[in-house]
Amino acid sequence: IVEISGLHKAFGKLEVLKGIDVRVRRGEVVCIIGPSGSGKSTLLRCVNLLEEPNSGTVLVNGYELTDPDVDIDRARRSIGMVFQGFNLFGHLSVLDNLTVAQRKVLGRDAAESERIARENLEKVGLAEKAKSMPDQLSGGQQQRVAIARALSMQPAVMLFDEPTSALDPELVGDVLGVMRQLADEGMTMLVVTHEMQFAREVADTVLFMDGGVVVEAGPPSKVIGEPSEERTKTFLSRVL
Ligand code: ATP
Ligand code: MG
Repeated sequence: IVEISGLHKAFGKLEVLKGIDVRVRRGEVVCIIGPSGSGKSTLLRCVNLLEEPNSGTVLVNGYELTDPDVDIDRARRSIGMVFQGFNLFGHLSVLDNLTVAQRKVLGRDAAESERIARENLEKVGLAEKAKSMPDQLSGGQQQRVAIARALSMQPAVMLFDEPTSALDPELVGDVLGVMRQLADEGMTMLVVTHEMQFAREVADTVLFMDGGVVVEAGPPSKVIGEPSEERTKTFLSRVL
């Protein structure tokens, strides 16, 4: 459902992605691990064209995002994204955060968008917070709202960029729990994470990135359990 081929991205002279090939099948969970600066966020941002690749192709749910003629707004509707920081609209209630894009982008009416919003709040365990303002929630709750908001757009694939790395340790578990549940329900997910335990238990495939290339890819038991590349071993010895 996601097919990235020969992806290159440079910022000026700095080559950040040096030919990346990644495939994510429907229902698959792919976790990307690797040191800071290896290009993980840039890769994810290229998948929904927040960054424009210099070369290579990105296919998502049948749309070739890298085709200059693609209807990018329509193509992006297939993709939900949750970042590290909380990107909720601070002046809108939780419920309004979940309905605004449904109404404006998908043209759903108020009742339908509210129904879907409440369904997704229920799913992330925050049904009772519909009327709260974002600043009345903990970081972990805000991040779960961000997930519920992305889900309300009913994307074909969810991208996560270190969704728990800005959270207090005691809040991390709830967010990972929601992500784990999504994975169990068959959501297609591409997840950048430093949570090795999560990657080990939830990922179908783990990619280790370093220096703008995928150094090693395979099931977690292989890439995290018995890495074959020296660079992977060095990285894991620092984080495990
Ligand atoms: P981290 O684990 O710290 O989040 P990362 O693997 O996500 O790291 P990226 O954010 O993709 O790494 O950054 C890769 C490299 O690209 C870094 O050297 C970064 O400084 C550079 N970079 C990222 N975005 C830009 C930008 N908009 N302009 C210039 N350089 C950038
Ligand atoms: Mg990053």
